[in-house]
Amino acid sequence: MERSSELYARAKELMPGGVNSPIRACLSVECEPLFIKKGDGAVLTTEDGRTYIDFVEGWGPMLLGHAHPDVTKAIQESAANSSCFGAPCLAEVELAEMIVDAMPGVDMLRMVSSGTEATMTALRLARGYTGRSKFIKFIGNYHGHGDPFLAAAGSGFADLAIPGTPGVPSGTVQDTLLVPYNDIEAVRKQFEANGDEISCVIVEPMAGNMGVIPPAEGFLQGLRDVCDQYGALLIFDEVITGFRLSYGGAQKRFGVTPDLTTLGKIIGGGMPVGAYGGKREIMDCVAPTGNIFQAGTNSGNPVVMAAGIATLKVLQNADYDALEARVAAFAKELHAIIASKGVDVTYNTIASMFTLFFTNEKVTHFEHAKACNAKMYASYYQQMRAQGIYLASLGLEAAMVSFAHTDEHFEKALAAARNVKF
Ligand code: PMP
Repeated sequence: MERSSELYARAKELMPGGVNSPIRACLSVECEPLFIKKGDGAVLTTEDGRTYIDFVEGWGPMLLGHAHPDVTKAIQESAANSSCFGAPCLAEVELAEMIVDAMPGVDMLRMVSSGTEATMTALRLARGYTGRSKFIKFIGNYHGHGDPFLAAAGSGFADLAIPGTPGVPSGTVQDTLLVPYNDIEAVRKQFEANGDEISCVIVEPMAGNMGVIPPAEGFLQGLRDVCDQYGALLIFDEVITGFRLSYGGAQKRFGVTPDLTTLGKIIGGGMPVGAYGGKREIMDCVAPTGNIFQAGTNSGNPVVMAAGIATLKVLQNADYDALEARVAAFAKELHAIIASKGVDVTYNTIASMFTLFFTNEKVTHFEHAKACNAKMYASYYQQMRAQGIYLASLGLEAAMVSFAHTDEHFEKALAAARNVKF
């Protein structure tokens, strides 16, 4: 990996840790990052000229695989007409219509340029709309790097918010109420104690940032009910799940409609994007109709919108059920192979995502996920990568599968797993 190594050395002089987003540095798997030159379907080629079967998919946007011809064509055609207007354009209306048609909880929306912006603004909107400051966040859910979301709870302080990173003043997270995922009783207790001060509950309706953890039976409906009871808003952060769990996202799949929805990743077809949307009466509070401010030079960027439209058009006719069945069979077999080596390992899977957890306990919330053996994952990662399988560089992330993955790709990954030694 000489060329990647050489580039990494140069990058480290220029960017903190040599990367533009920390997880890419591969520190927890004790490797150097690979520098990617090209992606085609489910296959990545590095600057070293090596190829890898990709189970990261850009951390979620590339559900169609890399460089899908329709998406590439849309980007090229749009870019030929300029890459930024800072003015309304047809494509943003078309993409907004497609999203509104697909998602039961979205009557209106606003495009932004990242998931982080989407969640930050959704929280501002919920606070402005309700006139309340506190909000509930689930431990282990990730909503981007907006300050109020960067609260972590030390063991034994599960409901005390403390800043999870230097630079976030404690005042910024004092209104963040932390609750274990899938624990509706803990949510109810928070409402009993603080009900008239809670603006909203924000939740990954299927957790994807502590490994894949599906919602427990009744959990999302329980959130809906308790929010209604106390006049708080329910926000589904569908940055990962939107157009992945089903074409209409987690809300369509689980039949629970949030007040606000945040989106990102897939709706930009790999281009930088985010969006937040919801009930008309709430969205009308956003400037210029209302007085809650949010703006962006590149919001609704024409090239990004074109990539999103092209992606959703393909997805409208895609067979999500068939992909889910293939991924379920693949994840089951992969788990069986690794388990046969005598290590503690379990797995969760839903739609086109799965996670192998190196632990013997069923994983339903963050404490379980945190108990996984990170060294074991690092060893698995390194051995798979050496055999041309590109996995997430952190154990507590989801493996992503695309519509471009073939049975041959799965077979190669399973064959590599058979060679792994612990
Ligand atoms: N919410 C969720 C659920 C996410 O998974 C992410 C990113 N992985 C974000 C928000 C932040 O999105 P972005 O990285 O585009 O800022």
